[in-house]
Amino acid sequence: MTNQSPAKSDSLEGTGFSPYIQVAVPTGSLETVGKTDVLKGHDFSRAENRAESKGALAPEGSSPHPSALVEAMKEYYPPLGCRDSLRLDFNENTVACSPKVREVLGRISAGDLTRYPEREPVEAIVAKYLGLAAPQLALTNGVDEAIHVLFEAFLEEGDELLLPVPTYTMYEVYASATAARVVPVQAADDLQFPYERLIAAITPKTKIIAIANPNSPSGTVATRAQLLEIARRAPHAVLLVDEAYFHFYGETIIDFVGTVPNLIVARTFSKAYGLAGLRIGLLAGPVELMQWIRRVLSPYSVNSVALACLSAALADETYLNWYAGEVKAARAEFEAALDKAGVRRWPSRANFILTRIGPRHAEFVRRMSAAGVLVRDRSSDPGIDGCVRITIGTREQMRQAAAALNETLETLKS
Ligand code: PMP
Repeated sequence: MTNQSPAKSDSLEGTGFSPYIQVAVPTGSLETVGKTDVLKGHDFSRAENRAESKGALAPEGSSPHPSALVEAMKEYYPPLGCRDSLRLDFNENTVACSPKVREVLGRISAGDLTRYPEREPVEAIVAKYLGLAAPQLALTNGVDEAIHVLFEAFLEEGDELLLPVPTYTMYEVYASATAARVVPVQAADDLQFPYERLIAAITPKTKIIAIANPNSPSGTVATRAQLLEIARRAPHAVLLVDEAYFHFYGETIIDFVGTVPNLIVARTFSKAYGLAGLRIGLLAGPVELMQWIRRVLSPYSVNSVALACLSAALADETYLNWYAGEVKAARAEFEAALDKAGVRRWPSRANFILTRIGPRHAEFVRRMSAAGVLVRDRSSDPGIDGCVRITIGTREQMRQAAAALNETLETLKS
């Protein structure tokens, strides 16, 4: 194959992913054949690769084994795919990122993409924005990677991870990749933060306490006083406060980073900033703890497109405030709509509301989807049987959601 036509434009216009930027593919390199990728002239399909021929080193059917921990891990497949309807299922921004970020995307050149990403200068900018010193902050590939890396760095056999539940699924998933034990602390029926129970569950083995604040899927919160007391009662443990939904709440504990020696705060750009697809999160903590996190974190885990956009995202506070304000107004309206429809709900400080639909929760989710609104079944989470979580978007979107909800509830009666 000869060289493809050169890039029509050096900039990645609009979304930043120009179809004109293609790379010459020499013979023998990877190309797509049907559904499987094969190397030209070499078939790496399973059948060919099995130890079938004479002189094979391993018996038929044998294949490399993962570690025992990984083998025992729960599989986690978020129900993504075919999400063309109104997306009220993953707590994303339901509109767009700041137009300033789109401008930056349009200016990224093909040459820019040839370089490995350099995280540190951007970390310094983000740290300054948050009132922190650069060594106190690490950017990550979303908060999911932050959780993964933190758990890898601190959890080992004999350790306990304290987890108020129900909560964000990935804490348990990543904990299960370590030899530590998860100690769930169940919230009562009001789903308020189980403060007393959590304090009572602290032991000398407690190594990490992970608290999403506001919590998902409940939308409830822990107070600053409660969090500080937990940190004080467990000085031998890391207190992770995951503030993924901070912008819809407004209260933070990030000002205590560095003063409280065991406090680490996580933030994401996936929610209010509308950049879930770019995968940017951060951990902020005392230098003494961050040094271990940096050892585990890949130097290139945040890609250069994401890094290029960060300053613009931070600077456009007008956009951020507009979006958070819109969600808060829509949340109040939608709460009223739920109350009017007689649906039980929990008061939320985030961009979603947990509702109790009852035994027909799965059917409710299906029918809402058929009505053009995607919502998330959380019924299998601990203590919230029959519950469905609904993300809050703009007022206009939530009026559409309320109409679909009323229609769906009506059809469920029959
Ligand atoms: N923490 C919580 C509490 C969340 O709900 C989510 C997203 N669903 C995350 C972290 C993950 O965020 P990110 O997209 O930055 O990985």
